Amino acid sequence: MVDFAALRDDFPILHKPVHGKRLAYLDSAASSQKPQMVLDALQEAYGTHYANVHRGLHYLSEAATDAYEAVRQKVASLINAPSPSEVIFTSGATMSLNLIAHSWGGANLQEGDEILITIAEHHANIVPWQMVAQQKGAKLIAAPMAEDGSFDKAAFAACITERTKVISLPHVSNVLGTVYPLTEIAALARQAGALFVVDGCQGVVHMPVDVQEIDCDFYVFSGHKLYGPSGIGVCWGKADILADMPPFLGGGDMIDDVEIERSTYAPPPARFEAGTPPIAECIGLGAAIDYVQQIGMAAIRDHEMSLLRYGTQRLSEVDGITFIGTAAGKSGVISFTLDEVHPHDISTLIDHDGVAIRAGHHCAQPLMKSLGLSSTARASVGIYSCEEDFDALTEALHKVNRIFKS
Ligand code: PMP
Repeated sequence: MVDFAALRDDFPILHKPVHGKRLAYLDSAASSQKPQMVLDALQEAYGTHYANVHRGLHYLSEAATDAYEAVRQKVASLINAPSPSEVIFTSGATMSLNLIAHSWGGANLQEGDEILITIAEHHANIVPWQMVAQQKGAKLIAAPMAEDGSFDKAAFAACITERTKVISLPHVSNVLGTVYPLTEIAALARQAGALFVVDGCQGVVHMPVDVQEIDCDFYVFSGHKLYGPSGIGVCWGKADILADMPPFLGGGDMIDDVEIERSTYAPPPARFEAGTPPIAECIGLGAAIDYVQQIGMAAIRDHEMSLLRYGTQRLSEVDGITFIGTAAGKSGVISFTLDEVHPHDISTLIDHDGVAIRAGHHCAQPLMKSLGLSSTARASVGIYSCEEDFDALTEALHKVNRIFKS
């Protein structure tokens, strides 16, 4: 049994009072806090084995390269990828989605082709596809979600046509918390002969992921949401698909042979990792993966699910609250509005009680517009979150109501 209450002690920042109050950090969906193990790994990477990777023939360069390359295997094991050579390091999920859209989309999309997403996407899974669609004369289509925020399989399937070349969806919505039925969607993608891309930003942090079981073609995520450093992310792709993709960025490390007239490129993953990578950050991500794997992703999922149930129940006590996204089995986030109080006012007021939540459109403007909202407040959990955090949020919201109703 994991003692989740004790995990809070692994995160030094959580012990720093905010406005003189105990910090209730409920903004992990935006970025998570870092355990001491990750901070130590960063310190060690810079303090004991730092040099540029892949290039040097000296001790420090080899040590840094070994530590950097070892993380590929850790990522592969985290998501059950068949091979570490399918793991590409990027600066984050945004870069990963741009890589896929521009490289695969640039090479394979044609005029009239369709890219299918849902209305609930993060902008990172809209704008890159929009850009390549505009270049290629392809069409970006967004399927609706059901009224309660759950995935509407019939409505989604109705959007698939013989021109559908890409299906790109989140594992978990960062606003609604909806967990998408990925294996069912993969079957639809296979039938349509479409590429299946999964934006795993809010998935891999909350539950076990098995890309072979899902049967997706790509799974991407950001290190900073998985208790690792910012500036490092992952783009996992199937070997045969990566092998046929042209490079996205050109420069050092991604080449085989360079002449002034032309160049030949290295095989993946190097082909997609031009320039000096975020070396220490990658090693920090490796420590974060060790950290969550020691705890176990299944245990993390169970802990967070029961916490979300508790949080929802506590927040239901607040006058005027409306939950946005109530799909069964939702994960990670609770979005809400509070009568006429603007979400920005909520967030600013409760900050004085040490409660950190997010307020805004959460980089999902099309979803907000479809809901007739400009913004929501959003509480999101991580492995260190606990009932006390939701108690603090509930009390702080009662206080907001008292201020606005007095
Ligand atoms: N997709 C989803 C579902 C997200 O929640 C986020 C981050 N909020 C992103 C993509 C983009 O991640 P990043 O900014 O780390 O690239």
